[in-house]
Amino acid sequence: MPVTPARAGGHCEALLLTCMDFRLANEVTSYMDARGLRDKYDHMAMAGASLGALNDRFPHWNEAFMTHIELAVQLHEVHRVIILDHRDCGAYKMILGEAAVKDPETELRSHVRQLYALRSAILTKHPHMEVEIGLMALDGTVMQIV
Ligand SMILES: [Zn+2]
Repeated sequence: MPVTPARAGGHCEALLLTCMDFRLANEVTSYMDARGLRDKYDHMAMAGASLGALNDRFPHWNEAFMTHIELAVQLHEVHRVIILDHRDCGAYKMILGEAAVKDPETELRSHVRQLYALRSAILTKHPHMEVEIGLMALDGTVMQIV
């Protein structure tokens, strides 16, 4: 069987940011596969996804995320960032407190607020970047947020 060597450079479609949560690893892969993006994206995992990448408690995480965007652009010509938060996220409870996720509507609003904030932060540094945001349920279905 021919082996394709891994390359440092080359073009890939997107940088995906998800939470590190082990429960959704397969669902995230299935979601990206279903979108035709199998093996076509860089994947960064941070506790809380959009919240991990932008919060006051762990400011160095924001630096790490932004540096990874720079690298994804330089190494793989990435022009799109996909940010997938998920429901029942432990990082949201830990960083924002239980009240921020106390019921499904409040939880959705907390995620939307955070996803918008991170999208703005990315667009400030990368005005031409396409930024997609979404919220994954524990069954793997994704609500796209516009
Ligand atoms: Zn999480």
